Amino acid sequence: MTQWIVDVVGTGYGQALQVGDILYDHRSAFQRVQVVTSPVFGRMLVLDDAVQTTERDEHVYHEMLVHLPMALHPDPRRVLIIGGGDGGTLDEVLKHPVAATTMVEIDREVVEVSRAFLPSIAGRAFDDPRGRLLIDDGIAFVKGTDERFDVILVDSTDPKGPGVALFSEEFYRGCRRILTPSGVISVQSGSLLYQRDLMDLVARHLRAVFPVVAPYWAAIPAYPGTLWSFTLAAPQGDPHHPRQLSIPGLRYYSPAVHQAALRLPPLP
Ligand code: SAM
Repeated sequence: MTQWIVDVVGTGYGQALQVGDILYDHRSAFQRVQVVTSPVFGRMLVLDDAVQTTERDEHVYHEMLVHLPMALHPDPRRVLIIGGGDGGTLDEVLKHPVAATTMVEIDREVVEVSRAFLPSIAGRAFDDPRGRLLIDDGIAFVKGTDERFDVILVDSTDPKGPGVALFSEEFYRGCRRILTPSGVISVQSGSLLYQRDLMDLVARHLRAVFPVVAPYWAAIPAYPGTLWSFTLAAPQGDPHHPRQLSIPGLRYYSPAVHQAALRLPPLP
């Protein structure tokens, strides 16, 4: 019998993806963790029935979460990743000449399963000496740390389960406290079409804390509705003036895409 995953976003909309093999299926301390194959997207990481990343289009999400804010900082040396257990965000960050990256992921099982079943997503990132992996709650880390970061990337699940407080004004206030003056934060903020309430909530909470807030988008076909949003925020600066990056081999991010991404289409 053909099996399908129905990935529901917001209210009243979902995307059905045919499943081939189930390579891993286990309930961790935080969520149901699955790795399955899809005839369209290759191997996919699925958490609580929501597709997180796939072999075919992970580069779109990770390049856009990472390079757009990194291009807005004059010299990002220290980067904080909250969540991001599959390692794709870490891999993109380490393409920059950063000094140190801290990744705070709450669920060790996501990291272990991604390393075992989705090795192409992180590449060799988890072995890079510039990277530090902490298995901890990102909210507690931000609240407690004395360190400062040039760029903070919130690579979180949707606001359910352990990810809920990552969308709160209090969490963003904590992020501002640990951001350097030229710092930039970027967060994934849900479907452009079907989670407008989530996008609005993220923008409202960020605006309460940061003078510069800008939503942007990318086309990520494995996510329901394809059009996906991120929101960046900063104490200062203009998101339309990125640095030219010299990173070979990028497949989605470019200076032209940077500008286009900041133009949200007028959607129905
Ligand atoms: N690209 C994905 C998406 O938008 O669907 C996000 C992928 S990444 C795997 C999300 C990670 O955030 C998960 O591994 C989850 O365990 C982690 N996470 C959720 N809440 C967290 C928290 N409070 N602190 C740290 N990590 C958290």
